[in-house]
Amino acid sequence: MAEDKKPEDMKNIQAEQEKASPEETKKEKIRLVPKEEEQYLPMEVEITCGHCGKSWKASLQQCVNISLHPEEKEQILDFSFFRKKCPFCGENSELSYPLLYDDMGKALMIYLLPENTEEMLAKVNAQQEFWSPDMLKAARICTMRAVRHSIYLVEKIKIFDAELDDRIVELTKNFIFVRFQKERPDVEARNALFEQQNGKNGYTIFAADGKRFWAEIPEGVYEEVERMASPFLDKKPRTEYELIDPIWAHEILGKILGKSDES
Ligand SMILES: [Zn+2]
Repeated sequence: MAEDKKPEDMKNIQAEQEKASPEETKKEKIRLVPKEEEQYLPMEVEITCGHCGKSWKASLQQCVNISLHPEEKEQILDFSFFRKKCPFCGENSELSYPLLYDDMGKALMIYLLPENTEEMLAKVNAQQEFWSPDMLKAARICTMRAVRHSIYLVEKIKIFDAELDDRIVELTKNFIFVRFQKERPDVEARNALFEQQNGKNGYTIFAADGKRFWAEIPEGVYEEVERMASPFLDKKPRTEYELIDPIWAHEILGKILGKSDES
């Protein structure tokens, strides 16, 4: 296990943005993130190797810009982005720290906030009152998400690559997961993550014993969930980072089911 970062190491991207002078802000095209030289200012952290116990310094990126560095998307998707090699013994450490994933081509921003997620999310969103009008304008056109873990960052990237609405994918997951549990009572299913296999949309279901199962979304189910859920979803994207996860899905499902009980 790596001792990866201290909370005070979380330098906020928006906090950096505040420092930009008004002229500087005007010169830039619409952007929410710092300029490349700013966003690639690495965060220095001390890592203690879980294998040999020696400590060493690593510099971590706080932000990835996929339009500028598409290779970093691949590194995130295969998780190599979060691995750092110990210079003493060569063992890899898995790191987990705040990271802003920015894909302007898709107007998508995903904030990985692995520790105290709700608290950090509130802080990040509270920074908005200091945003420039240009940044707020960009926020209105961007889908902004927060995630608790790198596996969910990867899941979100796959959902948006499949050109799906992650809210509907999260709600559909609930139905598919329940159905899987009914069909396979012998399996202790723990988690499900969206994925495409052979061009089909579905979920990899993770069992307690480490086994994985594939559950495809049957034809029409996504659309049916979308139809049911749409009265309960925001029509316009919010200008803040949102956690769209199983807890969120549970709340929305409660509203949907409450509504259908009344009718
Ligand atoms: Zn080591």
